Amino acid sequence: MDTRLPSGNAPARCLPSLSPAIARERRYGARNYDTLPVVLKHGDGCWLWDEHGRRYLDMMSAYSAVSHGHAHPRIVGALVEQAQRLAVTSRAFHNELLPAFLQRLAEVTGLDRALPGNGGAESVETALKAARKWGHRIKGIPADRAEIIVCAGNFHGRSIAIVGFSSEPQYRDGFGPFPPGFRQIPFGDADALARAIGPNTAAFLVEPIQGEGGIVVPPAGYLAQCARLCREHNVLLICDEIQTGMGRTGRFLACEHENVRPDGVILGKALGGGLLPVSAFVATDDVMQVFTPGDHGSTFGGNPLAAAVALASLDVLFDERMIERSAEQGAHLLARLSTVKSPLIREVRGRGLFVGIEVERERLAARDVVDRLLARGILSKDTHGTVVRFAPPLVIERDAIDWAVEEVRAVFAELGGGLRCAA
Ligand SMILES: *Cc1c(COP(=O)(O)O)cnc(C)c1O
Repeated sequence: MDTRLPSGNAPARCLPSLSPAIARERRYGARNYDTLPVVLKHGDGCWLWDEHGRRYLDMMSAYSAVSHGHAHPRIVGALVEQAQRLAVTSRAFHNELLPAFLQRLAEVTGLDRALPGNGGAESVETALKAARKWGHRIKGIPADRAEIIVCAGNFHGRSIAIVGFSSEPQYRDGFGPFPPGFRQIPFGDADALARAIGPNTAAFLVEPIQGEGGIVVPPAGYLAQCARLCREHNVLLICDEIQTGMGRTGRFLACEHENVRPDGVILGKALGGGLLPVSAFVATDDVMQVFTPGDHGSTFGGNPLAAAVALASLDVLFDERMIERSAEQGAHLLARLSTVKSPLIREVRGRGLFVGIEVERERLAARDVVDRLLARGILSKDTHGTVVRFAPPLVIERDAIDWAVEEVRAVFAELGGGLRCAA
């Protein structure tokens, strides 16, 4: 493998012409994604190759699902070995891998019990069901009155219930009617939480750092204060760590930065080691006791193949010091990006290898930066139209970071005072 960093790729004027693969996808696929015009064919660690053999640095990691890097040999090994032995049994029967996976989830989160799923939204739904039933059965909220507080700018997935409490009009538009029982407050404002909690509040659902919302880091002490308020008022604190967990922010869970142990944690994305969709809702005994046989389930949830892969992904994360690497390399990435000076940059922020550049929205769209980075061999993704997100695999090397930052610098130099160009 060529390990030299690409140098001086042609700047962004011409994006690749439409490939047959893209044309076919556009013809036969639902049009729910605005995909960048690159067809990826092969991946190894932080690097991806397209159908023309061109190499790209992955600064996006499939929205943090590929934190271990592409095709991590140990996780692939676990996948292949288990796939040949036994893959899917359903929870109608026991298998040998699930118990170890559940125990490991309890250990790494400091919680008691886990309920496995096959994707973020599914496990968020599990958390919502657990919180409501806990509210009704344990807290004593009158039937069907349980309320869950969420934050403006949240992203918790795409189910009807979840988009129903999104503040993003496009996520909701046309998809109603939505289930009631959710209340929205500003993110990063603990006083707003104090005001919103009422006798029927069952839970507060929050991302420790908002990811899709634009890598929004709340004020220091926010989560700890929320945890205190929740404890005082007998309200569950549920942290959606689907994107921030698994070492992304430099700790295993982002809530560890504030020494907060929530009542429930949702994991997903990187839990599947970049190979499979694996998720889990992990919680205290107090919360998890509400589930009885038949209450809730999932055909593929906790299957032995997923359990083997997730166990390997957790082992690799700790054995290869990926969490520490995220903290160290993330601090470096943030420091280097902060040296990029441009009138187009409003703010550079983040924690660990979870960093965003917010651009001046009147001058350009974040997508303009993303398109130019793509042409220079860097894969990134705009979020919310104004933020360029950098969340590379946690195995990224320092020289790759340095190279990427110089390309970012070149792109902003090229963009000068800005442009607003049609999509
Ligand atoms: C990606 C994400 C989800 C949804 O996960 P899916 O696997 O896409 O359903 C939920 N919450 C957060 C914070 C996420 O980043």
